[in-house]
Amino acid sequence: MGNLIYDIAGLRHFYRERLVLDIDRMEIPRGAIVGIVGPNGSGKSTLLKLAGFVETPSAGTIRFDGRPAEPYAQQVRRRVCLMPQEPFLLKRTVFNNVAFGLRVRSDLVRLEPRVHEALAWVGLSGRDFADRPWYALSGGETQRVALAARLILRPDALLLDEPTANVDAVSTQLIKEAALRAREEWGTTLLIASHDQQWLRESAQTLLSLFNGRLVGRGEENILFGPWEPSGDGRWCKRLADGQKLYVPRPPHSLAAALIADAVLADCSGDAASGVVTRLGLDPGTGGVMVSVGVGRQTFTVVVNRREIISRGITPGSQVGVEYDPAKVSWITE
Ligand code: ADP
Repeated sequence: MGNLIYDIAGLRHFYRERLVLDIDRMEIPRGAIVGIVGPNGSGKSTLLKLAGFVETPSAGTIRFDGRPAEPYAQQVRRRVCLMPQEPFLLKRTVFNNVAFGLRVRSDLVRLEPRVHEALAWVGLSGRDFADRPWYALSGGETQRVALAARLILRPDALLLDEPTANVDAVSTQLIKEAALRAREEWGTTLLIASHDQQWLRESAQTLLSLFNGRLVGRGEENILFGPWEPSGDGRWCKRLADGQKLYVPRPPHSLAAALIADAVLADCSGDAASGVVTRLGLDPGTGGVMVSVGVGRQTFTVVVNRREIISRGITPGSQVGVEYDPAKVSWITE
């Protein structure tokens, strides 16, 4: 148990009697990089707020570093930093924003060099930025200052909620590098909710898929959304923009989401849906190659071993088939 930084059990959270998060078990090893994916409203921010001890769960326990958060919340909270989706800066200078957390902790030793160092981590020169007021920053700079204000605390766990949404390309790169560096240099555990699946797939050892507040898989699954319709031969299907049909068992309702866990690449023949490879990427978890295939307007992601990629000469632009067993499709229901 000693290597778990988070051990979460029976976690439930309600907003006005509506269950928005329902996680039976979640274990996160110390120093892990965990990516959290899922459509809007699936509970990613709620999970990070609870893991950041910013909100108290309606039910369940979150053990941090072997101890329950209650009654140790105060000590535990200090070791975790959450950067919310829209971090706001205090109405003061950049220096005072970044120094704030250390001042609260009365940790004033070498304050100025530490602030400058934290700014340097996110690509901001202290000389140019330390005295700037909070309102004289671009969106990307604001985000980077917010990150510096957390990095200076050298947290054991850094929780980032859509850290690169709405920021420029340079800031995106600097934010990614700074987060990974914290993990490399201090062993900081990273929990990152992001729509940037490519980044998460490349950096995270674990991907968690949330859907309607539940963990529905490890990010490798393909989720298909309805509407579903009878295909005319007794089966049910989704009709794609290009006229192809993706078959499923009878859905619980026409807008239910289908989870496909066994998609594989196939030849462009027979029952396989035919598509075009849009992207190849390394899957660090398995050492295989993640192949994204556009089928109609749907994207499938399939992990394939490297030898197969080479022997079949698969490159972006290749025509391939995608196959799965409709009988093994499961339904994600509320
Ligand atoms: P995500 O981060 O995946 O977009 P959220 O965790 O923000 O999802 O939201 C999960 C669900 O909880 C959504 O349906 C959202 O509308 C609802 N929700 C989030 N915060 C609140 C709140 N403070 N009050 C009421 N409902 C909320």
